[in-house]
Amino acid sequence: MSNKGLLVVISGFSGVGKGTVVKRLVSEYGYSLSISATTRAPREGEVDGREYYFKSVEEFRNLIDYNGFIEWAQYVDNYYGTPRKFVEQEMAQGHDVILEIEVQGAMNIKKQYKDAVLIFLTAPDANSLRERLAGRGTETEEVIAKRMRRAKEESLDMDVYDYIVVNDDLDACVSTVNSIIVSTKCLKANNLKFMEDIKEELQKQ
Ligand code: 5GP
Repeated sequence: MSNKGLLVVISGFSGVGKGTVVKRLVSEYGYSLSISATTRAPREGEVDGREYYFKSVEEFRNLIDYNGFIEWAQYVDNYYGTPRKFVEQEMAQGHDVILEIEVQGAMNIKKQYKDAVLIFLTAPDANSLRERLAGRGTETEEVIAKRMRRAKEESLDMDVYDYIVVNDDLDACVSTVNSIIVSTKCLKANNLKFMEDIKEELQKQ
């Protein structure tokens, strides 16, 4: 099969539990996770280099100038970007890499990496989304309102994604996303070279 890693984009509404789903995918199935850079302040318990690389605006702009990101975007007053080096190295070594990024970044990745699979996680309905966001208790009303407005905008871009998965039951959601990744790796379109090689080998037998 293709010996190049697959790029897996996971997006979803703020508060939908993307972080938990992604952590489970990494610990249970061994996917590589790209750690983004951001200019937003760390939340309580977040560690530099674990959740994010926390950068000043100036440092972030420098990284943009040096082509240090495969994509970057502005989201609710802050910048977020995917460091290029880690992703390229991991993929070259045949590891599948998960990017947990928002929709502008996802579109950008789709333009550059045609094989990437784009997965959108959603809550079952808008009310439960708001409840989850308020329930996290780490954000002010103003931030919650901003993120709800952003979710409204993001819902308009859901059709950019290849797959939509409802995160109602965590175990089911993790297992569904893993199945999508496994299936994508088996797609004919992602294995053209493998097929050609094995055909050629068999002709020689
Ligand atoms: P949060 O501040 O809640 O950690 O993240 C806010 C949003 O930024 C989330 O939708 C998250 O997926 C997205 N995000 C995190 N890292 C990146 C990145 O490197 N690029 C882009 N485009 N979005 C990101």
